[in-house]
Amino acid sequence: MSAAGAGGGAWAGVIGRLAVARRLLVALDFDGTLAPLVANPADSRPTPEAGAAMARLARIPRVHLALVSGRPAADLALLASPPDGVELVGSHGAERGRVQAGRAVLEPVTLSPARAQRLRAVTDGLTALAGGACGAWVESKPFAAVFHTRPMPDRAAAAELEAQAAALGKRLGGHVLPGKMVVEVSVLPTGKAAALARLRQAADADRLVFAGDDTTDELALRTIQPPDLGIKVGSGPTAAELRLPGPGAVAEFLQALAAAMER
Ligand SMILES: [Mg+2]
Repeated sequence: MSAAGAGGGAWAGVIGRLAVARRLLVALDFDGTLAPLVANPADSRPTPEAGAAMARLARIPRVHLALVSGRPAADLALLASPPDGVELVGSHGAERGRVQAGRAVLEPVTLSPARAQRLRAVTDGLTALAGGACGAWVESKPFAAVFHTRPMPDRAAAAELEAQAAALGKRLGGHVLPGKMVVEVSVLPTGKAAALARLRQAADADRLVFAGDDTTDELALRTIQPPDLGIKVGSGPTAAELRLPGPGAVAEFLQALAAAMER
């Protein structure tokens, strides 16, 4: 049986519940949800099926489509290639914008001098920590530094380093967001739960569906109650009502949702 065959019946109830919406907010994480996880974050792309599902949803007038990611919003627009009109929430909620003519048009955010100094201290500290370990590296974002351990062959050593990175970030006054083989230290207070609440209010949506795969998504999934729908992508403990195995199933679900919303 195909995944669609297996899921179609199981999804009918939740999709029917969403499809009665006057206005539906469809908020989606990117990495691991629309795009398969890859070793190099710059290589991340949505599957063709996920891209087609986004395009179809974006054409439905009573659907408000948003991508909600830990990535900088400008990178998100480049990698995800979302259709025009899609709302972008980047850096775990710190950045907001919209896709226009294929590019991200962002609301300006500036760091105070104190926060800029904190970001330099965090970036320097994490870079020094990564320097001693084969495969660990640090990614710089506009409001955060991200400690990556995915290329490290020794997982026990990687976990130990991640703990050290989190402790360092906390000591320097950052907001620590642990993820899968990453530790992000942001200098802005962020969170996808708050981002979803803002999106929903701005869109005047009476129903919401959110899908995400990582531990940072779980905090948002815990705030979602029926008739809204939370979707956990992949394995791991979750408070979400529905679990989908990966980006392939997410694309199938979004196509089924689009079909119901078009009626
Ligand atoms: Mg993700």
